[in-house]
Amino acid sequence: MTFKDLNLSAELLRAVEEAGYSDPTPIQQQAIPAALSGRDVLGIAQTGTGKTASFTLPLIEFLSQGRAKARMPRCVILTPTRELAAQVSESFEKYGKNHKLTMALLIGGVSFEDQERLLDRGVDVLIVTPGRLLDHFERGRVLLSGVQFMVVDEADRMLDMGFIPDIERIFKLTPFTRQTLFFSATMPPEIDRITSTFLQNPVRIEVARPSTVVDTITQWRIDCPKEFKAKRDVLRNLLREENVSNGIIFCNRKKDVDIVCKSLQKHGFAAGAIHGDLDQSVRMATLDQFKDGTCQYLVASDVAARGLDIPDVSHVINFDVPTHAEDYVHRIGRTGRAGKQGCAYTLSSKAEAKYLEAIEKETGHRLEEKKFEFSKQLDQREETEDPSSKGGGKKRNKRGSGRSKETEPREPIVGLGEHTPAFLLRPAPVSSSKSKKVA
Ligand code: AMP
Repeated sequence: MTFKDLNLSAELLRAVEEAGYSDPTPIQQQAIPAALSGRDVLGIAQTGTGKTASFTLPLIEFLSQGRAKARMPRCVILTPTRELAAQVSESFEKYGKNHKLTMALLIGGVSFEDQERLLDRGVDVLIVTPGRLLDHFERGRVLLSGVQFMVVDEADRMLDMGFIPDIERIFKLTPFTRQTLFFSATMPPEIDRITSTFLQNPVRIEVARPSTVVDTITQWRIDCPKEFKAKRDVLRNLLREENVSNGIIFCNRKKDVDIVCKSLQKHGFAAGAIHGDLDQSVRMATLDQFKDGTCQYLVASDVAARGLDIPDVSHVINFDVPTHAEDYVHRIGRTGRAGKQGCAYTLSSKAEAKYLEAIEKETGHRLEEKKFEFSKQLDQREETEDPSSKGGGKKRNKRGSGRSKETEPREPIVGLGEHTPAFLLRPAPVSSSKSKKVA
């Protein structure tokens, strides 16, 4: 099947062709005709499947007829994070370039005034995070009674983030006659309830079983000590040993994202941090640097990284084993996209074994251990440093660290070319945490 078989207008086909796509992905093959026929759609699909175009293309087709009235958007797209909202808007721009549609982004970190000016003039498409939309609604700046199309993207993520009451409220504020396109990677009971309440006889499309992982991703586990510092050591060694062209490193806690990022920068790696406590402008700048290659390693929290479309990520590294098995699937889904090969490593300590088990159960895939030479070195050093090890160990210095400051080996600077990127010469893009010494 080609895009030509989907009954799209010549303008849209031209935009799709210029985006470099010839054949629709499975979700597009099913969702586009269903949406064009006016049906509600329930798409169970992960990011990376082409789901954004599966709702953007039919919406552009519909919206090309008619005009928006002041403060009354014709289409609302709800997304869990600002990054995803920004990505959806890029998609709209890409596919809608041959149409005269107006669009506004209502997301945190973007000035209210600019967005309100756009709203006052009338917008066809409003791309929002739920809280921001309700803020504008409560201020009387946006009316939802003219909404003809509503899209909910990454619904299960919104559930995790506690947005379900907001989403229910937004659904109730829009006309019953709207058409709804609803996407979720998984279908927990709460999402099931929402879809049965607000979708009308939807066409259900499931392109990959929930929690299945793409087979273009090689997955490994690395056993390592539980101490934070020792894990950082393993991480650095891994980055040096592996041919990582660019990678996303996930931590479970925002605080740790900052520390791991600073540590990598200190050791000469071109790293940037992204998590929910950072300013939107900082997050966007870091993401741009990661996309253009100035930043080779993106240290991220789950929320910030969910749904990011970053093509060509060679590696995903779980610095921590995710405590929810579903997050594992989403994390590693950042690599091995669109048929490319990807590699995922999970650093796992004994304390995290139960989470690892849950992941293996969820994905039906056993994570084999990958042993590196450096693991041995690390083990040996730990032995010599272990105060309880009898004899043979290194002489301990007075402060009992087992190693004097002078003998601390300096890490070579790796991952850099001849020139240190400007990125590394600036202070770390870390705003929220207090400056701490890390290694
Ligand atoms: P998504 O699942 O919407 O995040 O899309 C994942 C990636 O697939 C994005 O980089 C899209 O630009 C790309 N993509 C979308 N549709 C197609 C297609 N028909 N053929 C190839 N790549 C596509």
